[in-house]
Amino acid sequence: MSLILNHINKRHIPGPVVADDITFTVNPGELAALIGPSGCGKTTLLRMIAGFDTPDTGSITIGKYTVSSQDIHIPPERRRTGMVFQDYALFPHLTVMENICFGPVKKDVTHLEKLIRVTGLKGFEKKYPHELSGGQQQRVALARAIAPKPELLLMDEPFSNLDIALRESLSEEVRYILTEFGITGLLVTHNQHEAFAMADKIGVMAAGKLLQWDTAQNLYYHPQSPEVAGFVGEGSFLPGEVSSKGEVTTLIGTFSSDSGTTVPEAFGRGFGRVSVFIRPEDVYVDPDSVCRATLLKSHFRGPGRLHTFELTSGHQVICTDNSPASLTPGKDYGISVCNRRVSLFYHPDERNRDRKVA
Ligand code: ADP
Ligand code: MG
Repeated sequence: MSLILNHINKRHIPGPVVADDITFTVNPGELAALIGPSGCGKTTLLRMIAGFDTPDTGSITIGKYTVSSQDIHIPPERRRTGMVFQDYALFPHLTVMENICFGPVKKDVTHLEKLIRVTGLKGFEKKYPHELSGGQQQRVALARAIAPKPELLLMDEPFSNLDIALRESLSEEVRYILTEFGITGLLVTHNQHEAFAMADKIGVMAAGKLLQWDTAQNLYYHPQSPEVAGFVGEGSFLPGEVSSKGEVTTLIGTFSSDSGTTVPEAFGRGFGRVSVFIRPEDVYVDPDSVCRATLLKSHFRGPGRLHTFELTSGHQVICTDNSPASLTPGKDYGISVCNRRVSLFYHPDERNRDRKVA
């Protein structure tokens, strides 16, 4: 079942604008994620979808039904939507089974048995929440949300109280559980790796705005704004100049539309100053390069090192390096870009000439 948000606006009074013209679609059976810094409006958006909060304008459609619009407000219990919270919110005096069956659950034994099995809670039915680990408690919360057979499951930072290993295995489990029950999901997280690992589509939010709604791959390689580029993963911004020949020149090399850049649209759309965004894995230490840079610092990252270089212009460039050779901070090295997968962003003052940025 699909979830459609159409031009949702919301301001807390008194308080900030928490939803600024938000539009997106989660297709039936998909798992989508919303990422963004704390306070950007993720929880408020989930609450509006669940029906605990009302948008000022815009509409929300779940499956065939508009559940929220200017003159419609379907109450939460009639939206066929389940919700899982960060703090599990289990009843301490009820057993696992009693927690799961709490609420408007029809006694469908087959469904409950499958739920217990799929969520890995077999054998724990008679235990109390305090006898369970954090991961098990979150599984109970998940099972409780799915017990009334929702068609849409909303999850608000469900894994943030868990350690990393558990978070990863549980997020894989959640995917599996949603698929098993054919439920569409929307997950809120401030952990980008979680979103990348789980979600079919990811929305990047900042200050009430949805900056981009896209696949993980596209967010990483085709960010539509400098904000998304900087928020999703790491990278360096360098000034560049697009020539009339359609090449962009930077301090670290010249890229053309022929060299396989992933943003060919940016070329041939007028020339001028641009901001060029380069991922660290596309930069390498190259003794033959004419571009010299001073190594400022080098951090051990397990699989490799992350070097921070400074160009003579003062701009910094980060570079991942998997080679065993160690470099010395303070010394100069040559650096090059191996992959022309760069993103171009026109400067704000030049954007009106051509609004499409990359
Ligand atoms: P997130 O989940 O992304 O951290 P929230 O949706 O919880 O963000 O909050 C967005 C902003 O709205 C925050 O600045 C928060 O303080 C504010 N806010 C949240 N709920 C209310 C409310 N009921 N009244 C006023 N302001 C609120
Ligand atoms: Mg929140």
